[in-house]
Amino acid sequence: MVQAEVVIDLDAIRANTAHLAERAATRSAATMAVVKADGYGHGAVPAARAALAGGATWLGVATVAEAVELRTAGIGSPMLSWLNGPGTDFTPAVSTDVDLGVPSVRVLDEVVAAARTTGKTARVHLKVDTGLGRSGAAPADWPDLLTAAAKAQADGIIEAVGVWSHFACADEPGHPSIAAQLGVFSQALEIAEKQGIRPQVRHLANSAGTLTLPQAYFDLVRPGVALYGLSPNPARIEAPLRPAMTLRGEVLIAKRVPAGHGVSYGHTYHTATETTLALIPLGYADGIPRQASGRGPVLLGGERRTIAGRVCMDQFVLDVGDDPVSAGDEAVLFGPGGPSADDWADVVGTINYEIVTRIGARVPRRYVGTGA
Ligand SMILES: *Cc1c(COP(=O)(O)O)cnc(C)c1O
Repeated sequence: MVQAEVVIDLDAIRANTAHLAERAATRSAATMAVVKADGYGHGAVPAARAALAGGATWLGVATVAEAVELRTAGIGSPMLSWLNGPGTDFTPAVSTDVDLGVPSVRVLDEVVAAARTTGKTARVHLKVDTGLGRSGAAPADWPDLLTAAAKAQADGIIEAVGVWSHFACADEPGHPSIAAQLGVFSQALEIAEKQGIRPQVRHLANSAGTLTLPQAYFDLVRPGVALYGLSPNPARIEAPLRPAMTLRGEVLIAKRVPAGHGVSYGHTYHTATETTLALIPLGYADGIPRQASGRGPVLLGGERRTIAGRVCMDQFVLDVGDDPVSAGDEAVLFGPGGPSADDWADVVGTINYEIVTRIGARVPRRYVGTGA
């Protein structure tokens, strides 16, 4: 048995994708599975394969390097890479039919240069900032981007496959920015049409949009976190999703200590009585937040417990009282039957996205389910 591991349930990813793709299909929209950041920590290649098996027909990633990883693994599906600045080498993307998100004329020029180098037509998705205030052309700059794209398209150098944007507050149903962004997006599409850009795919919806806003589906939805079975806002958005990730570690040593014994660096915790301390080999190098010191929930010996004292780089301690815990027993940090990634997010003041995405490379991934 390994000391600590992440177990990924590929059946869960496949079933979650099928659920989201069914919703999208009610409006004849296709589904792009977002597998950036190593598939939100679940492993980009296996997550992508499970999502494609579940009915996604596109994959979405941030960087060209992430797209190349998927292509190198033999995944040939339509794919979009959207977070690339000037100076990126776009040739590996263009030559392997990876579509590129383009937020500015400056980036378009570099994609055009890559298309000329490879002798292939580059497939681009023009991005408009409808209000998020992050990437994408500001509405004032949108016509110039369209003009440049229409010219390169007329020259046969690029194909404007998509027009797209991203929500700021779709995880807060009813937020006024949602309707505002939808309005700006419609205008941007009209302007594109007038300038001769007729995209095959218009897309806007992330997980929250896919779960709550059918009017935002357009031709393609881009769910990320929901594929992995997590709600983009557990307090407000419910969905029949199954978390795919379990994080577990085994007790390395369990030992009796007297009352008043300090535990872990800084002695921020002292035993109240004679008790058993159990050491779990996972720490902040593995993505366990140090803010979970004295707070993180862990299932061990059938009981939910709280981390005693500080989380260290490689390990933390649980005070299990007089319970019969011994070396080799399994501790579940999150996963079926144990606490959830949402519980961890709550105790450290973050979001479930960050909990699963930060699990360190040192923790081995084990895949279960069909296709594993
Ligand atoms: C990360 C990301 C998504 C997916 O977001 P979720 O909230 O995880 O569904 C979709 N589109 C873009 C542009 C993203 O960066």
